[in-house]
Amino acid sequence: MLNRLILRFRCCHQLVRNRSTPHPVSLSSNRLIRTMSTQSDSRNKFDLPLRYQGSSKSVWVEYIQLAAQYKPLNLGQGFPDYHPPKYITDGLAAAANSADPLANQYTRGFGHSRLVQALSKLYSGLVGRTIDPMTEVLVTAGAYEALFATIQGHVDVGDEVIIIEPFFDCYEPMVKAAGGVPRFIPLKPKPTKGIVSSADWVLDNAELESLFNEKTKMIIINTPHNPLGKVMSREELEVVAQLCHKWNVLCVSDEVYEHMVFKPYEHIRICTLPGMWERTITIGSAGKTFSQTGWKIGWAYGNAPLLHNLQMVHQNCVYTCSTPIQEAIAVGFEKELQRLSSPECYFNSISGELQSKRDYMAQFLAEVGMNPTLPQGGYFMVADWSSLAPKLDLSSESDTRKDYRFTKWMTKKVGLQGIPPSAFYSEPNKYLGENFVRYCFFKKDENLQAAAKILHDWKKSL
Ligand code: PMP
Ligand code: GLN
Repeated sequence: MLNRLILRFRCCHQLVRNRSTPHPVSLSSNRLIRTMSTQSDSRNKFDLPLRYQGSSKSVWVEYIQLAAQYKPLNLGQGFPDYHPPKYITDGLAAAANSADPLANQYTRGFGHSRLVQALSKLYSGLVGRTIDPMTEVLVTAGAYEALFATIQGHVDVGDEVIIIEPFFDCYEPMVKAAGGVPRFIPLKPKPTKGIVSSADWVLDNAELESLFNEKTKMIIINTPHNPLGKVMSREELEVVAQLCHKWNVLCVSDEVYEHMVFKPYEHIRICTLPGMWERTITIGSAGKTFSQTGWKIGWAYGNAPLLHNLQMVHQNCVYTCSTPIQEAIAVGFEKELQRLSSPECYFNSISGELQSKRDYMAQFLAEVGMNPTLPQGGYFMVADWSSLAPKLDLSSESDTRKDYRFTKWMTKKVGLQGIPPSAFYSEPNKYLGENFVRYCFFKKDENLQAAAKILHDWKKSL
């Protein structure tokens, strides 16, 4: 018990040391313990707890506020700017107005029965094994909570977690808040002639291998990837799987964009690779699946012993998610399950709908000299704006990172908002994202045309 406590304090100390923080704290373990117990020295009683020290507003909080203030054409935060399929919103109205007197009351904590049944049916087919709806699926408050429950439920103090950069920005703070130690490895673009594809962004396998050791508890992968749109190939997944076996490591696979993959690429679930079911937790999002990001329902699935840990976190934090929203999503899945192999199935038609938007955006970005990386999946595109940098005066913005200055300046002066990709890197590697901007292309065609016009007019004015 005492050893465990000492380890926890040591780790907190390390957390504090590792972080680049606006209030840098550098304390010896003994002093830290005294500070924690007396709340004296430089820490105030109501400061952020040590496990959250160094946190500042996330890019979403900052950029949504910026969009509200300057009202640019918003290609920043990822969401469609038009309605989800009508059957899903009709399903919600029907669920809320149901004659069942319990339709709007609490439902089963680990997931509304009708929804976990539908998820188990879908994924049993997709992964080729029977998934138990009661013990192998957990419904959460968005994929965010699925990630949180996975990380809190599996990462212990001092455990190392491998994170691939750029990464969806909450992975790093979630690992640190659990007392884990993130170990980062960046995807880097291979030198390519012509159009860069997200497939050209690759890991150095030797570097990846060098991160694994006996302290490694988890690796987090994200395919299709946000922000690059990379869809991991079977070979790339096999490298990860083989290292997970060798070092007895858990793989967390964030697959929220699983149904948005452009031809000729294919989404492969790492849990289907030999021996990986026993060591993978896969995460999904209804917000992505049915294009209603505001509903905030997600899920995790995996084998029962792994899922048990997530249930323990979920039951004491969210406990149960919205009943009518889960009911509506279940109805949506039931509809799609009946037509899974038809082109009308939303999980098949959505990629075609997005592919033409992707191609249009890639074209207008290239025309204005912002070198796009063509995504294989998802609904984001990164573009390199560095060739335009010599013509820009961004001195009105004070951020340390170039991409923050560029995206804020574009929001305020040009009326187009993107996201700064350095937000998706650890502090030492943020420079790798600074020449880029991320745009979301899941927007009405007329708004993509308006974005093209804004950029063309701006380019002419330079
Ligand atoms: N993972 C990735 C890669 C994402 O892009 C997002 C953003 N939606 C999430 C997780 C969180 O999803 P949700 O909105 O369902 O919480
Ligand atoms: N996943 C979306 C994005 O990357 C939304 C992020 C968020 O709302 N935190 O833009």
